[in-house]
Amino acid sequence: MKRIILTYNQSCNLACDFCYVNFHHQKIEDKAYEVVARAISLDFNVITFGGGDSFSKSSFRKACILAKEHGLFTQVDTNGISITQSDYEFIEKYVDLIGISLDGVGEAHNSIRKSKNLYTKVNTILETLTDLKIRIKINTILTKQNKKSIYDIYRYLMKYDNIDCWSIYQFFPISVARKNKDMFEILNNDFDDTLSFLDKEDSKFKIEKFKYSDRVTGYIFCDEQGKLYTNSLEGDYRDICSIFDLDVEEKLFRFNEFINPKTRDRYI
Ligand code: SF4
Repeated sequence: MKRIILTYNQSCNLACDFCYVNFHHQKIEDKAYEVVARAISLDFNVITFGGGDSFSKSSFRKACILAKEHGLFTQVDTNGISITQSDYEFIEKYVDLIGISLDGVGEAHNSIRKSKNLYTKVNTILETLTDLKIRIKINTILTKQNKKSIYDIYRYLMKYDNIDCWSIYQFFPISVARKNKDMFEILNNDFDDTLSFLDKEDSKFKIEKFKYSDRVTGYIFCDEQGKLYTNSLEGDYRDICSIFDLDVEEKLFRFNEFINPKTRDRYI
């Protein structure tokens, strides 16, 4: 048991049509700080604060500081919207690896994320992070809609020196994303063909290709209330237990065989 992925499932500041997170928009008690404290006591050594945008959540910075100060490797995914000027100092101090979403270059990114000027913001963030020599990971969701943008994204990323890794994920037709499956689904052979040119490129960064099937069996998530869950291949959420349960280690141990080592042992 090494890596925990903390996801904010209450809401997101974007509404991407390919999103698979079933945001509940309920009034809740955000226990992200307590979740991190519990993860520390359970000897997790890597934490990912998942996207949409942790920076938009009031609990995030304090929780991330706690993780970092207790020696966890901190990885934070964001769509970039809520990163402010003062966050760069925070990122330098407390974030080991920052993941930025990018699904196209220029208007293509704005359009797929349904957010005017988002690309301009992402571009500024990447330039600033590069100046600060902060390690960057790029997250791209590959769908039927943006497969023609992949080469453009690659050329764009090659101009930066601080990108550690480009993670490309096949569209996941799970949960609420199933209703838009026809618009976005990309089949395995199309995914492979679209990305095959990368095998011949001499890129400056590592490239990770994640098929849907790698992903669904590979992750255990924890929401901001401490609920642990995973996804099934059929596209449903499966509850495991609460991270605050006394016997959580035993319950998680039973899930070990379902966890894909490719996802569990990243970053360490
Ligand atoms: S894909 Fe990411 S940024 Fe878009 S709505 Fe979902 S969580 Fe938010």
